[in-house]
Amino acid sequence: MFFCVLMTINKSEAQENNVFRKTGSIPETFQPLPLFEILPSGWIREQIQENLNGFTGHLDSLVPDLILRDDIYGRNRLGRHVKSKDVGAITENGELQAQFLWWNSETQSNWRDGYLRSAILSGDQDHLARATKYMQRILATQDTNGYLGIYDSDLRYRFDNENGELWSKTTLLRGLIAWYEFTRDYQVLKTIEAAVHDVMVNYPPYTSHPFYSVNPDAGGITHGLAFTDVLEELWRITGKQEYRDYCIFLYRDFSEQKLNEDAQYSKLADTSLMLKSHGVHTYEHLRSVAAAFYASGNPALGTVLQNFLYKINLCISPSGGPVGDEWIAGGKADATGRGYEYCSLHELLNSYTSLLGKTGDAHFGDLTETLFFNAAQGARNPFESSIAYLKTDNSYSMCGGLNGDTTVKTQTRYKYSPVHQDVAVCCVPNAGRIAPYYVQNMWMKDEQGLVATLLGPCEVETKVRGKKVLIDEQTAYPYDNSITFVINTEDSYFTIKIRKPGWAKKVSVSEVYIEDKGYIVIQRRWKGEHPITIQFFPEIELKQDLNKEYYFTYGALVLARPIQSIGRQTKTYPLKGFRDMQYRPSGLSILEYADEPVKQTNQKKAEFATSLYNPVSHKNEAVILLPLGQTILRQLTFKPKSEDQ
Ligand SMILES: [Zn+2]
Repeated sequence: MFFCVLMTINKSEAQENNVFRKTGSIPETFQPLPLFEILPSGWIREQIQENLNGFTGHLDSLVPDLILRDDIYGRNRLGRHVKSKDVGAITENGELQAQFLWWNSETQSNWRDGYLRSAILSGDQDHLARATKYMQRILATQDTNGYLGIYDSDLRYRFDNENGELWSKTTLLRGLIAWYEFTRDYQVLKTIEAAVHDVMVNYPPYTSHPFYSVNPDAGGITHGLAFTDVLEELWRITGKQEYRDYCIFLYRDFSEQKLNEDAQYSKLADTSLMLKSHGVHTYEHLRSVAAAFYASGNPALGTVLQNFLYKINLCISPSGGPVGDEWIAGGKADATGRGYEYCSLHELLNSYTSLLGKTGDAHFGDLTETLFFNAAQGARNPFESSIAYLKTDNSYSMCGGLNGDTTVKTQTRYKYSPVHQDVAVCCVPNAGRIAPYYVQNMWMKDEQGLVATLLGPCEVETKVRGKKVLIDEQTAYPYDNSITFVINTEDSYFTIKIRKPGWAKKVSVSEVYIEDKGYIVIQRRWKGEHPITIQFFPEIELKQDLNKEYYFTYGALVLARPIQSIGRQTKTYPLKGFRDMQYRPSGLSILEYADEPVKQTNQKKAEFATSLYNPVSHKNEAVILLPLGQTILRQLTFKPKSEDQ
């Protein structure tokens, strides 16, 4: 009997080890370009500049205690002497809890990541000067042994409970990598590599347990799995395999510890388990699982990656927003009843683009565009610089609670704020990251040439086969579906692939092309200036969501019926022009699908008119439909006409 038990343990251990065993790493289909090689133009550039003029450019002054007055990576590092912080939960056992107080590192570093990328992409010299000063200061905080982080030597790397060791470095180093790509300053790269080397020495692969926690609810620890972002970028820059291999170790240790996280191997292997963890963790872990799979090549990890995508698909609302308010809580997407967090929008977008590069699968481009053009635009205030922390596709009230719910008095996430300090300053920093990350993934490279992976106005300047190539992508996409690519290069032969959006049934191209796996492929000799014009022909489409409610799309845009609202200012800031706003409807009727035709009312804009059924008056009502980014309160999905049910 005893023998049998032992055999069982050995067998299951062997199986477990087998799953993480490296069988041969998988090459990525497309390679991302460095940050500075793709610059936004048109409406995306305007939006990044608006953010710099608004919450992204001013967040440090809006919450000076969290950013300017807490030098958490420098003189205010956390050690055993730190009892509490104003921002944190003050506990009785201050000495033990100091390691918990990593939140300001996330606020600061995610904010700065978005801020400096926005400064670089806009070319704004004042903001670039500020970013340069910060970089000099943060680089100077590195210890001689390479440590770059938030803990004094009496705490670092020796935890058995919640901590932000890896997460505080992840958020910081993502920004430093962007700065290196921009400046090409070798000293910056050396600093990053030394910091990562310090981690690998202190958390040696397969003999340490960075994800061990006596408490399975350890958000700082589990956010730390996103350290794979840093490792993958360093691998791409330096070609050093050790960085990529370390992703496998991190995912294995993360999977083997007792943690309440969806992305653990054994939970993903079970397709009957719905996602239930903190949304933002789950959506960022998607790309860590992908990183481990591509680094190891082990098919078992490929299977759980597919399972993960299947489970996430059940959580996606029509706008592309992934549910999580803030927990996914085992539920499916629901356009009225489930909110999505701005942090999750950014992190899922980041995961989709990672998968787009790895797999080359054009469908990840469609998912990215849907999320960025709809959910992400639709959670911004179209009239002033603020965002919704939580938002729903059907948004009937933004007065704190979910669609007018007042049962939880402390729920303030459903409103517009440039800060959201009454909950946490996590979403506003990420709202400054999402557009720069979209831009950086608009073009990638493969062995044949360049790939327009995500569409929209931008300019790319890079080298293909050693020759300089400039492409000016002129368009107002997705608000207009005609794109002119003006290609400028020396005499050279290479391929340009342009992702054909999944919704585009008809396309015209001013050039000889073939279609291959969702891409328009143009292979030719290029010389001097050469324009290519592509026209996609969208149609109004009627779709049904997971709950069989109807909604309308036009090309990459999801449409909604705007609902008149009354705004109320609920908070002002010492900085002029910033405020929190709540919105309530001025008369709310929830309409139903009436099977009436939809007509475009303005050929140059995505504006439409139709009729929907009012179940109270028993009459059809004329309504307009607009892209989500132009709405505050809105109805996006429409139940089938109740009288027909
Ligand atoms: Zn957030």
